[in-house]
Amino acid sequence: MVNTGLIRIQNPASDHHVHTKLCGHATGEMEQYVQTAIEKKLKKINFLEHMEEEISWKTRTWLQESDFDKYFAEGIRLRSIYKGQIEIGLGVECGYNPDATETLLKRLAQRQWDEIGISCHFLKIEGLNEHLNLFTRNEENIAICRSIGTDILLTSYFHSLTEAVQILPGTIVCHLDGPLRHLPELQLRDSHYMQIDNLLKEIAKKNITLEINTSGLRIRGEQFPALRILAMAQDYDITMHLGSDAHKPEDVGSNFQQFWPSTL
Ligand SMILES: [Zn+2]
Ligand SMILES: [Zn+2]
Repeated sequence: MVNTGLIRIQNPASDHHVHTKLCGHATGEMEQYVQTAIEKKLKKINFLEHMEEEISWKTRTWLQESDFDKYFAEGIRLRSIYKGQIEIGLGVECGYNPDATETLLKRLAQRQWDEIGISCHFLKIEGLNEHLNLFTRNEENIAICRSIGTDILLTSYFHSLTEAVQILPGTIVCHLDGPLRHLPELQLRDSHYMQIDNLLKEIAKKNITLEINTSGLRIRGEQFPALRILAMAQDYDITMHLGSDAHKPEDVGSNFQQFWPSTL
């Protein structure tokens, strides 16, 4: 355990969250992500690829089972090539959908994941043909978010994420305050902090970890989740891991240095 000022991070030389081109919105071969991790002196890289179920969205931004087959084959090949240089984990970032819980549980149970990330990227909104994407820059989608109102969407999001933590066999909760990040006017209310407090209690109860996602530094100048939430998590003794959420090889381990002690 390492002290970095206020926040204690476990295994700070591990990147717990990177993607690959298999998800359709990332670039680069898995091997390039591994090579960047080695160049950046990481001891572990954990792939955490997108799984979604029964989501209607403009394009598929997640892997199908046949993609996961390729993902595991390549990951296992890389493990043998880079053995002794870096540890390679093969995990999944499972997007929660309350309408597809059974299928998600079944798919998760089918494979041996090194990590199961819990996210909630999409919400179903009455009257809309597609799901609402809480993480996109798509302007049409953002306009809909604004017309519904960020307060109400955040309330649904935290409700959904808490349910996901209760139901799914997750090991880490991803980018906890990441939704609607492309709306600069976004503000969390006291009621949201009460929901977050409840969510953190669930995370502590299940003894799973919380991700410090450094893509927030690239997007909004602060990691996900914000320091106030990390301090709340620390009060519950929740273990924290770093994740870059890299969607291109050069972003592996990005901005990790500021969480590293000088002795690392
Ligand atoms: Zn992604
Ligand atoms: Zn995500």
